[in-house]
Amino acid sequence: MITRLSHLFLRTLRDDPADAEVPSHKLLVRAGYVRRIAPGVYSWLPLGLRVLREVERVVREEMNGIGAQEISLPALLPREPYEASNRWTEYGDGLFRLKDRKGGDYLLGPTHEELFALTVKGEYNSYKDFPVTLYQVQTKYRDEERPRAGILRGREFVMKDSYSFDLTDEGLTESYQAHRDAYERIFARLGVKYVIVSATSGAMGGSASEEFLAESEIGEDTYVRCLESGYAANVEAVKTLAPEPVPFDGLPAAKVYDTPETPTIATLVDWANGADLGRTVTAADTLKNILVKTRQPGGKWELLGIGVPGDREVDDKRLGASLEPAEFELLTEADFAANPFLTKGYIGPKALQANGVRYLVDPRIVDGTSWITGADEKGKHVVGLVAGRDFTPDGTIEAAEVRGGDPSPDGAGALVAARGIEIGHVFQLGRKYTDVFSVDVLGENGKPVRPTMGSYGVGVSRLVAVIAEQHHDDKGLRWPAEVSPADVHVVIANKDDTARAGAEGLAAELDKAGLEVILDDRKASPGVKFKDSELLGVPLVVVVGRGWGEGKVEVRDRFTGESREVAAESALTEIVKTVRG
Ligand code: ATP
Ligand code: MG
Repeated sequence: MITRLSHLFLRTLRDDPADAEVPSHKLLVRAGYVRRIAPGVYSWLPLGLRVLREVERVVREEMNGIGAQEISLPALLPREPYEASNRWTEYGDGLFRLKDRKGGDYLLGPTHEELFALTVKGEYNSYKDFPVTLYQVQTKYRDEERPRAGILRGREFVMKDSYSFDLTDEGLTESYQAHRDAYERIFARLGVKYVIVSATSGAMGGSASEEFLAESEIGEDTYVRCLESGYAANVEAVKTLAPEPVPFDGLPAAKVYDTPETPTIATLVDWANGADLGRTVTAADTLKNILVKTRQPGGKWELLGIGVPGDREVDDKRLGASLEPAEFELLTEADFAANPFLTKGYIGPKALQANGVRYLVDPRIVDGTSWITGADEKGKHVVGLVAGRDFTPDGTIEAAEVRGGDPSPDGAGALVAARGIEIGHVFQLGRKYTDVFSVDVLGENGKPVRPTMGSYGVGVSRLVAVIAEQHHDDKGLRWPAEVSPADVHVVIANKDDTARAGAEGLAAELDKAGLEVILDDRKASPGVKFKDSELLGVPLVVVVGRGWGEGKVEVRDRFTGESREVAAESALTEIVKTVRG
């Protein structure tokens, strides 16, 4: 097909949109690929839609390749299945809910485990029908708290979601592995640099779960790697390597000190180093107690105390993942007022436990470790408070930040941290949803068996942004050939009629050879056309200009930036060869 820029529904912009912060967002808007309608809601214009369709094509090819079958479920869904799985409540504000004219509750599907389980239950009833894997490429809806970076985190977005149904755990492992392999092929074909990290299984209650993260500094996910062992995990999934407990004998008794004006860790450490304790104290010797309130879905708010070494912050995402499906909030002034035993800046384990507040600590706070911490009175701290001797936490919690340099959980070396964007997720769900809907089929021995599920997602629309993020320069986009909106972008850079006719002829031949051609036949200056060709980002740009008179065209490689002159008569063969590789 030849797409003429003189007719294409396209308006490129010289300036970055005011609301865009990350390069992919700026460029996709400037190049006329997407347009904003509302926060996290975008329209796809012709070239953007083409890239989206190319990503979908690659995803479909690889899904079909592992024997997954495509179906399409509605996005508009009744409440009941989600009520049955409790996700109507658990999803909280993230769910778009609506009512029909009769007052019935509906939602816009955020992910479809319930419906796929019910669909399989509806059609299949014998062990002979299994295993089966179904997928769809579908528009999803999530009322994200912070839609971000254009199509990167939308409230409406396209996801490929697939679900495997097996009768045995071994079967599930195989289906999982097949998806994992297919995802590796998808992301390689799309030219995305990524890592696979262990993920938390969160509230979904499964076992194995891994995320595919595209490497990117603007990513919202932090992951860590151990270069020695190859361990890689999302920080939410990192299990802190706990030290061995220390024997109590010989540890000095705890002692309360007056520590006026020491409500922060820094002021406390300063006091301790001036207090003649017989050693140098660092923030890591202090125990910082953070108060939050948590609420199970549909439940009541409850106080929770979290103790972490004073040199570490609480990481909201890690805390959130540990508490899931419960949510949490920081305490308000009113909460402090309602609980006068909480002495801000001087909170210690004692008052929490004496007042029935659940108290969880970082895994480093093992029995026998000795801490400087609040004494529950303004201007007082206690030194030498020993875990397991002077206080006994209700358990441990993974909430403290993970830092580069921390020991790897497998003990093999130090962790290095980097950022990424989640592009895919593979997940062994188990029987959570088949249990909810009693999906039973007749087993080989005549007894009912319950299938076990896997669920697997790829962020299809997000990938358009991710590819743009990983492949651009300051002039514009640089699509990998597999997803480019065209194979070649022919620029007519000369007013001369013979050059124009020559370019038209070359475009027609390229089209006949099966290539997707963009032809810039507009009445605009060569400078404007070159700029647009760089902005649009087709990998191969052919300039038919001054050289045409001498039988030459220029071929520019948008990926490498290289440019060469090619004889007009061999241009067709050369270009087809370059595109076909
Ligand atoms: P995130 O942690 O980024 O919110 P998630 O873990 O909630 O993602 P999943 O439920 O695993 O996402 O969905 C599968 C895939 O769908 C993700 O790997 C991601 O690529 C994509 N995705 C999820 N939320 C969005 C969104 N708001 N906009 C675009 N793509 C998304
Ligand atoms: Mg996920």
